[in-house]
Amino acid sequence: MEKIVSLCKRRGFIFQGSEIYGGLANTWDYGPFGVELKNNLKRAWWKSVVYERNDILGMDAAILMHPKVWEASGHVENFYDLKSDCKSCKKRFKAADLKDPKKCPECGGELTDSRPFNLMFKTHQGPIEEAANLIYLRPETAQGMFVNFLNILDSRHPKLPFGLAQIGKAFRNEITPGNFTFRTREFEQMEIEYFVHPDQADKAWQDWIDYRFQWYLDLGMKKENLRQRPHEKDELAHYAKACTDIEYNFPFGWSELEGIANRTDFDLKQHAKASGKDLTYFDDAAKQRFYPYIIEPSGGVDRSVLAFLANSYHEEKVKEDTRVVLKLHKQLAPTKVAVLPLLRNRPEIVELAKKIAFDLKKSWVAVYDDTAAIGKLYRRQDEVGTLYCVTVDVQSLEDKQVTVRDRDSMLQDRVSIDKLKEYLREKL
Ligand code: ATP
Repeated sequence: MEKIVSLCKRRGFIFQGSEIYGGLANTWDYGPFGVELKNNLKRAWWKSVVYERNDILGMDAAILMHPKVWEASGHVENFYDLKSDCKSCKKRFKAADLKDPKKCPECGGELTDSRPFNLMFKTHQGPIEEAANLIYLRPETAQGMFVNFLNILDSRHPKLPFGLAQIGKAFRNEITPGNFTFRTREFEQMEIEYFVHPDQADKAWQDWIDYRFQWYLDLGMKKENLRQRPHEKDELAHYAKACTDIEYNFPFGWSELEGIANRTDFDLKQHAKASGKDLTYFDDAAKQRFYPYIIEPSGGVDRSVLAFLANSYHEEKVKEDTRVVLKLHKQLAPTKVAVLPLLRNRPEIVELAKKIAFDLKKSWVAVYDDTAAIGKLYRRQDEVGTLYCVTVDVQSLEDKQVTVRDRDSMLQDRVSIDKLKEYLREKL
C-alpha cells in the first residue's frame, strides 16, 4: 500500500485533500492522472452497462433530495453504525470493529456503552437553520433512480426487465474511514437498479453477478485477486433477499468492491406508500399489475480505481535498476501515447516531436515531454501506465520514421511517421 500511495502522490494521481492546511482527514483529491484514470473507469462501466446492452437507461439525479425520501427508504431509522467512545483519549470506534467492547484498543481506557450513530450528513436548505429545512447529502445514488421510476415509465415506456444506471457522489459520515481511498466520507458510486418481474428476480440477480464479475476480469483484474462472497443471512440489509459481494484482494486483505443485491419490491412499495403515487408496473401482455423486484449492482468508483492501481502495480529488474510499471488495461491507462525527443537540444527534433504529439492528440490522450533524458522519460511514462512511447531521433529527420516502444514488453518498432496513426489505431 505504501508504494501505491507514494506513487499516487509523486506522479499526480491522488493527493491528500487540503494538504497545505495540514490536510482534512480522509479526503483525497484526484490529480491530472487520477482524474483520467477515474474518468476512463467510469466510461468503461457506462459502456458496458448502458451502451452495450438494450435494457438499461442512464440518468443523473440530484444529490439533494426531499427529506421524505430518506424516511421512506429506511435510512433515517436504520442507516446507522454503533459507536463507542473512549472516556480517556476521547477517540471514537465502530463497535463492530472492537475485540473488547469495554476497552479502548488505542490507550486501554474505558469505553462508553455503544450508541447508534446515523451515517447521513445533515445540512439545511436555504438561509434558516431550523428543523423544517433539514436535508441530507445522499448516502447512495440508488434512491434517485427509485423516485424516478414513474418518470421513466411515462417518458420512455420501457418494458420489463429494464434498468437505470447512474454514477455520482455519495456521502456517509463513516466512524472509521481509512485505507487510503477505500473508505472515505465522500465517494462516488456506480449503481444500477434493474426492475424485473418477481418470478425472474433470482435469475436476473445471478446474471448480474456474472456480468459484473466478468467486467473486472475483462479490464485486466487478475482472477486470483477477485472473488464472490455471498452474504450470510444475518448480514443482509433489512430490505434484501440476497446479496453477493465482489471482493478484491487488497494489500490490506479481501474487501468489497461492489455488492449485488436482490432488493425485492421493498423500495417501490415504500415510496408508493410514502408519496401516495402508484409505482406499480402494468404488464400489457399478461394484463397484470404488480410491483417489480429490483436487482441492484452497486459499486464504488474510488474503490475500483484503487483496486485497479493495486492490480496493475508491477516492479521488475532491468539490468541494475528496478522498473516500476502500471500495467493498466488500455481502456484505463490515463495516457495512451507519449512523444519524446531523443535530444532535447536539437530544435529540429523538438519541433518534429511536438508536431507529431499535436497530431496524435486529436485522436488519443497523448503528451509531449522533453524535460529529462530519454531513460528517465521512459521510466516516468511506465510509472503512470502510458501504453506507447514514440521517440524522435536524429535519423527521424532523414528517414521520416520514429521508434515506438511498447510499455509492457519494452520492444521497439520503427514506424514511418505517416503510418503512425494507423499503427497505433491497431494497437489501441
Ligand atoms: P462497507 O460494508 O464497506 O461499508 P457497504 O456494504 O455499506 O460497504 P454499499 O452500501 O453496498 O456499501 O455501497 C455500495 C458500494 O459503494 C460499495 O461496494 C463500495 O464500493 C462503495 N462504498 C460504500 N461506502 C463507501 C465508502 N465509505 N468509501 C468508499 N466507497 C464506498
